[in-house]
Amino acid sequence: MASSAKPASVIIVGAGMSGISAAKQLQDAGINDFVILEATDRIGGRIHKVEFGGHTVEQGANWLHGVGGLEKNPMFEIAKAINLKNYYSDFSQVSLHTYKQEGGLYPKEEVEAALTKAKSNEEFGTELAKTLSDNHVVDDDMSLLALERLNHMEPKTPLEKMIDFYSFDGEQAESPTVTSLKHILPRPECVLYGEGAYFVADQRGFEGIVHEIAKTCLAYKDDRVIDSRLYYNKAVTEIEYSETGATIKTEDGSVFHAETAILSPSVGVLQSDLITFKPQLPLWKRRAIDEFSLGTYTKIFLKFPKKFWPTGPGTEFFFYVHERRGYYAIWQQLDNEYPGSNIMFVTVADQESIRIEQQPDEETKAEIMEVLRKMFGKDIPDATDIMIPRWNSDRFYRGTFSNWPAGYTDEKHEHLRASIGSLYFTGEHTHPQLFGYVDGAYFAGIDTAKDVINRVIRRQGSKNI
Ligand SMILES: Cc1cc2nc3c(=O)[nH]c(=O)nc-3n(C[C@H](O)[C@H](O)[C@H](O)COP(=O)(O)OP(=O)(O)OC[C@H]3O[C@@H](n4cnc5c(N)ncnc54)[C@H](O)[C@@H]3O)c2cc1C
Repeated sequence: MASSAKPASVIIVGAGMSGISAAKQLQDAGINDFVILEATDRIGGRIHKVEFGGHTVEQGANWLHGVGGLEKNPMFEIAKAINLKNYYSDFSQVSLHTYKQEGGLYPKEEVEAALTKAKSNEEFGTELAKTLSDNHVVDDDMSLLALERLNHMEPKTPLEKMIDFYSFDGEQAESPTVTSLKHILPRPECVLYGEGAYFVADQRGFEGIVHEIAKTCLAYKDDRVIDSRLYYNKAVTEIEYSETGATIKTEDGSVFHAETAILSPSVGVLQSDLITFKPQLPLWKRRAIDEFSLGTYTKIFLKFPKKFWPTGPGTEFFFYVHERRGYYAIWQQLDNEYPGSNIMFVTVADQESIRIEQQPDEETKAEIMEVLRKMFGKDIPDATDIMIPRWNSDRFYRGTFSNWPAGYTDEKHEHLRASIGSLYFTGEHTHPQLFGYVDGAYFAGIDTAKDVINRVIRRQGSKNI
């Protein structure tokens, strides 16, 4: 148990990317008496490396987005500065490696036709989204599914549905039925930073980037945070707030006081009952939280005693097409990143992720082996190891990254990030354009900290009068 007798200026709840970038901003502004309360025993949150089959793999964020655009992605710049190993993800040859439900490859032309159709739909959607935004009609939005219908491009065949899953569910972790056209197309990261995605595979993990930022504001020894302002295993369960301060209670009975609190847990955590607010958050705030969306996206890692899949240039990614949407659909083998590791992973999302989280690993492994045997033949060996992250059932996450639902207005999003008295809200979901991704979390932390710094200055000014 711990208790702060003297109130901190600021308490930051959560030490993910947004919490750490907020801490750095506060420190840079000379506000040093902050406290960070983190529910787990590590920093990084949804950026989380783990050891699997003798190598470092990422349970959470994996890709750095975009190069060659209008601006530089700050995450990429840090990765470069610390020589974090990353690899360009080349999907260009996937039409040569797309497997049918019962085995055998699709003809390349058929896959390319489906990919071209999906691309043309995205281009149509991008134009339409621009028109909707230019019209300045508030609330004028539609779902990605409605876009496909309007454009007579609703996917019909299992192959088209798989490509649709790859294009949308694989990015937003939710189906086009849910997702907003206006806030997804054109893809904000691509516009800002440029096309392309770079897969981080480095012993330090993607979290090397978080540590690089944390080192500028927290005390470190031998690559470990030793700062007494950072408390691990402090799951916040109650926040009593007013105009002038906040009292924060954690599950182990500790009590902390601060003039201002910054909350960085995912929107899924805010939607759950983990934290009780006293007084209850106003209806406009609760609606803004509950109506936003958090998808679930799962990379299932597998290790085999030997390789049985094609290797070499252009073979990194392959698709499996099943009549059930997204059924073990997107595959990536890590021979490029970890030669000889015999590791690959399959990505599932949304309802499939939730279904898989609820069943024993052995059942999932059996389903996966059946799929792999359809693709590569009956004689392939069983996986010796499997790792299935469970982001949705984890009470400190409740999903993986936020998604903007169709019809969710800009005004509602302003409510989502609006402060209430001494309580400030940050996290990837609060960034109006870059929500969902690590860079969005990074910028959200900075923006929220700037608002808090202004509040601290205002309050100091009024005390001096
Ligand atoms: C599987 C997966 C794949 C992803 N892929 C990519 C990708 O390729 N590229 C990309 O850019 N982004 C990706 N993301 C998204 C990216 O990881 C997140 O957008 C970003 O890390 C979110 O940072 P955050 O600070 O907003 O939230 P979080 O990382 O969730 O940080 C919040 C912190 O609050 C803590 N917390 C929660 N509840 C409490 C409580 N009650 N008390 C105290 N602490 C609490 C949590 O433990 C956590 O440390 C992925 C995420 C996942 C999970």
